[in-house]
Amino acid sequence: MKGLVWLRSDLRIDDNPALNIANNECSKIACIYLLSEKEWKSHNNANVKLDFVIRNLSDLKNDLQKHNIPLVTASIKNFDEVSIEIERFCEKNNISKCYWNKEFGVDERERDKNVELSLKKSKIEYQSFDEQVIFKPGSILTGQGKPFSVFTPFKKKWIENFSLDHLELESKISIKKPFHLVDTELKEISFNQTHHVNMNLWPSGESSAKNRLENFLHNKVNNYSRDRNDPILDATSRLSPYLASGVISNRRCLLEALKLNNFEFQTGNKGVCKWVDEIIWREFYKNIMHSFPRVSMNQPFNMSTKSIQWRHNEEEIKAWKNGKTGFPLIDAAMLQLKYEGWMHNRLRMVVAMFFTKNLLHDWRIGEAFFMENLIDGDFASNNGGWQWSASTGTDAAPYFRIFNPVTQSQNFDSEGRFIKKYLPQLASLNDKEIHLPSPEHLYEIDYPSQIVDLKSSRLRAIEVFKANK
Ligand SMILES: Cc1cc2nc3c(=O)[nH]c(=O)nc-3n(C[C@H](O)[C@H](O)[C@H](O)COP(=O)(O)OP(=O)(O)OC[C@H]3O[C@@H](n4cnc5c(N)ncnc54)[C@H](O)[C@@H]3O)c2cc1C
Repeated sequence: MKGLVWLRSDLRIDDNPALNIANNECSKIACIYLLSEKEWKSHNNANVKLDFVIRNLSDLKNDLQKHNIPLVTASIKNFDEVSIEIERFCEKNNISKCYWNKEFGVDERERDKNVELSLKKSKIEYQSFDEQVIFKPGSILTGQGKPFSVFTPFKKKWIENFSLDHLELESKISIKKPFHLVDTELKEISFNQTHHVNMNLWPSGESSAKNRLENFLHNKVNNYSRDRNDPILDATSRLSPYLASGVISNRRCLLEALKLNNFEFQTGNKGVCKWVDEIIWREFYKNIMHSFPRVSMNQPFNMSTKSIQWRHNEEEIKAWKNGKTGFPLIDAAMLQLKYEGWMHNRLRMVVAMFFTKNLLHDWRIGEAFFMENLIDGDFASNNGGWQWSASTGTDAAPYFRIFNPVTQSQNFDSEGRFIKKYLPQLASLNDKEIHLPSPEHLYEIDYPSQIVDLKSSRLRAIEVFKANK
């Protein structure tokens, strides 16, 4: 039998259920990746993420070729074209079954339904798999049969339900019979670089992802719970771009991490436990996205926050985006985003809270800007993180708990080493001045004055949230 594996955010061979089942059932396999230009843009996906995806597709193409599996990559106008192209590809190549791993988004689910309908009409079989999270999405439920909206009880239930069977991974595929494809006249993906990211930071390919995991578990995980909040230490795994595009699986990460801790989640190695917690946070937000589709439709999770009166000031938004707020930690973080396509988790929370509380701007503007610039852009985690910071989300920060960016800077970048890396013009400032340069220093250096007063803007945010209650 000839099979087609339709790749989406699962750009790997290891632990790829769709590819593994196709491998078991088919003598010949082809893979296809369709980039929908309209949805890439309308979902605010970043230029740097596209660069990363294209590089990974190229590596995957070489890896699959070793198994006689051709990978076709093509660009199409929009999701409406997907069903037509998949059906046409299957018919032209006499493919009798199509396989894919499910995605979470509302538009993606709609697209997949259309593909199912057109395959059914053409009498082509299909099978799809849940691979992005450990348990079937929406299946971790409270005693009342409802989806969890708070992380800690979700995690408890998640761990209760977990068994080692979930980590039985298939990592090998066999050498297939050569599949000579008929030309389907699909348009090649073209790429026009507009980002400023140094791509050497993000080497492509499954082997790079696995090396990164191994290096993290070997050299960093033991100190993860101690160091993970310090942005200069590079103490986290930086695996998020690989997880977001599926170059490595969550199961592979969990398996390798848990092996180091006797498969314990809550006792033993503190670093492993904390890191596994973060992977469960990822699962939590994916489940929220699945069970509460409104979060994908520009709505707050907590509907009572819908009527909050956000401010709008273009100059402030521009200053925030360009790292010119006059608050060194905020500005350095925004420059990290620009030049790395990634931002440290602590800083994501600090800049998001500054944007939504001190500036009192709509979280959706910040959420979109992050997606437009992140190499690891992942709707569920990004939306979850923004709504947490804006106090509109699940398990969100209480509205009166507002991070002070200067205190955060003193606590997590006490010597200003991170700040100085991105803002070298502040290099001469001492450990005290670096967190909030005084006006007399600003005359001497090329650095803007603060765009907002922290104390009064904090009170303003609390008043607005209180009034909304
Ligand atoms: C405002 C905001 C926006 C965010 N946007 C994204 C996003 O678009 N994509 C994304 O992958 N993460 C996002 N996060 C979560 C988190 O910041 C990143 O996952 C993390 O910084 C990635 O670095 P790492 O791989 O070194 O993480 P590690 O600390 O090594 O953690 C391992 C993995 O766990 C997952 N993870 C870690 N923290 C979180 C978290 N808080 N929520 C959900 N999953 C988590 C990630 O997949 C990560 O790769 C966001 C957080 C905030 C506060």
